Amino acid sequence: MHTNFSEFGISDQIVTALSNMGFEEPTPIQKIAIPPALKGKDIIGQAQTGTGKTAAFGIPIIENKPKEGGKFPYAIILCPTRELAVQVSQEINRIGSAKGVFALPVYGDQSIDIQLKNLRKGVDIIVGTPGRVIDHIRRKSLVLKDIKIVVLDEADEMLNMGFIEDIETILREVPGERQTMLFSATMPTAVLNISKHYMNKPKHIRVDASAMVVTAIKQAFYEVREEDKIKALTRLMDVEGPSLTLIFCRTKKEVDDVSGQLMQMGYLAGAIHGDFTQSHRDEMMRKFKKGEIDTLVATDVAARGLDIPDVSHVINYSIPQDPEGYIHRIGRTGRAGKSGIAITFVTPREYRHLRLIEKAARTVIQKAKLPTKEQVKKARENVIAVTLEETMKGREHTDYYPLVGRLLEEHSPEDVVAAALSLLFGKTDVEDIREISMSHPDTKRDYVRLFMTVGRKDNLNVGDIVRSISSEAGIPSGKIGNIVLFDTFSFVEVPANLADRVIASINNRMMKGRKVKIQLAKNTDKKKR
Ligand code: ADP
Ligand code: MG
Repeated sequence: MHTNFSEFGISDQIVTALSNMGFEEPTPIQKIAIPPALKGKDIIGQAQTGTGKTAAFGIPIIENKPKEGGKFPYAIILCPTRELAVQVSQEINRIGSAKGVFALPVYGDQSIDIQLKNLRKGVDIIVGTPGRVIDHIRRKSLVLKDIKIVVLDEADEMLNMGFIEDIETILREVPGERQTMLFSATMPTAVLNISKHYMNKPKHIRVDASAMVVTAIKQAFYEVREEDKIKALTRLMDVEGPSLTLIFCRTKKEVDDVSGQLMQMGYLAGAIHGDFTQSHRDEMMRKFKKGEIDTLVATDVAARGLDIPDVSHVINYSIPQDPEGYIHRIGRTGRAGKSGIAITFVTPREYRHLRLIEKAARTVIQKAKLPTKEQVKKARENVIAVTLEETMKGREHTDYYPLVGRLLEEHSPEDVVAAALSLLFGKTDVEDIREISMSHPDTKRDYVRLFMTVGRKDNLNVGDIVRSISSEAGIPSGKIGNIVLFDTFSFVEVPANLADRVIASINNRMMKGRKVKIQLAKNTDKKKR
């Protein structure tokens, strides 16, 4: 087992550059990928985001720069997005510049003229998005005849984005005699198909996601109703005082809602998702890295692949879809042995989903209790006290002495100070935060089970049922309890007081082209699951 970079037998300049970058030892994926990659072997690498895949392929590419350097690039790296192309080429240039290796990013929204100029100067490594690379091939500004190494970075993501044809075109364009490395967080068939067609006896390298749940990450979940999530979130942020927080939401709209509400309440929050312009996203990342904002609200897709700094708290405002998603998200904290906290909000209906994630990810997520109103109040008061003490230390308040003297002739010091504080900070009272009733599905007594005459064979899934009940009956989806689907029928739990409404609004309606009958299930006594 390698424990430091020099043991790979790579050039001293690279080892020095890595140590200047603060890389003390190779990450697990680097340990297993670098040796075969240095030997020129084809590689399929699977590991979660943030595990150091860039250097895993970057170091071998730099080390293996051909002796007789030609005019044309010898390596090409394809990435799904402009951010990634820029990040990857930056990292490669940092590692490789001392060895005289130069990488150039080429991507869609940069002026083609700048790129043409740079390409003419001569480049060793091209890091590009597939579309723009194709552009340059057509313009003959990019010549691939000397390519010896091809990397497909975040291959699954590139395929999701519809780049399959572009990728195949490029792979046919490069010389057959070459090394191909493919990296992907997940391995859907489409990715494996590419590897079958375009790779030569690839070596599969995998860092098991479950092995990656660093013990330094403290994992907790809070049972919260959908409508109480913002309150729960701010309670936690007030009491825990996180230094840098990354909040994951399921949809772009949710990102907008959550970040908007946080900003309104005075938190230094920002948002990223796919609808924002590139420059907005760059700006957010810059602010987050500089600490100008300390809370970033994001969708999985937007956060994917971005080099987000190590955060103290990851908060799953919405529960991730699957165990891999969970591992990816929480892997943003607790890096390099630092401790981190991963928090997941779970609505009663999602409780079972959480347990599945926990099981599949082979980890333990502890149930925790939200801070009480008193704790929140105290935390807020502490912030005010510190702010005041800072002001007093600064001695800039002394102008007010005469006014204070005048006020104290007629009022008590308590009144004067309290009035000033309430002007400044508003109410410290937390009465506007409703008590969150944490109900557990196992102990929930007021739910009844409904029987529905549609099921899996009707192409229905749990989400479809939740959506139609919540929109037809007009009840929040968080109020819908457990759903069990069978082939031709299903059971749904709803609050007893809403059962009539659900039945009235769903009965005889069409769902996926079938008329639905819905009624109280025969055996509605509340069985313990
Ligand atoms: P991935 O491509 O797997 O998502 P990256 O290559 O972007 O991960 O690396 C994530 C972060 O970790 C980057 O900031 C990178 O500079 C840093 N990093 C990579 N390898 C190491 C290492 N061996 N030691 C310390 N930091 C590293
Ligand atoms: Mg990467």
